[in-house]
Amino acid sequence: MLANPIYAGTLYWNRTQWVKVDDTGKRIRKYRTKDDIRGTAGNAPHLAIVKPATWKLVQLHLSVKKGTNPNVKLKSGGRTVYMLSGLLRCSECGAHFVMDNATHYACGSVNDGKACTNEIRVPRDVCERVILGDITNEVLAPEVIDKMAKESRQY
Ligand SMILES: [Zn+2]
Repeated sequence: MLANPIYAGTLYWNRTQWVKVDDTGKRIRKYRTKDDIRGTAGNAPHLAIVKPATWKLVQLHLSVKKGTNPNVKLKSGGRTVYMLSGLLRCSECGAHFVMDNATHYACGSVNDGKACTNEIRVPRDVCERVILGDITNEVLAPEVIDKMAKESRQY
């Protein structure tokens, strides 16, 4: 569900096509190439249940977690241990903020012994509450759960 763009109000269509396989008229469904489906996505704001900014943050987190984000290389071999691992950046040097100990994020270049003047340490629970609060409020709000339940029943 977190990867389905319909919840952000984006609807895709025409992503597959039926292709004749032989002279008998038998057809199989094939996915179109990315070039063929370009321009076939549209907005369906009435289907959106999360704000676009929240959607982008979730997709960013998922790409970091899966190790598919080309901008983030995690020391743990692509496995994230904390919700915001790989997503926070130091405003001074641009390095990733990483868990400095069990409870605080800090600039990663301080941990690596590189020079960084940023000595700010941020409690993990504060970061997660502030940054992830929207996701929790939007996705787990009673009216959103009701809407999803109704849509599920319709299907
Ligand atoms: Zn730094």
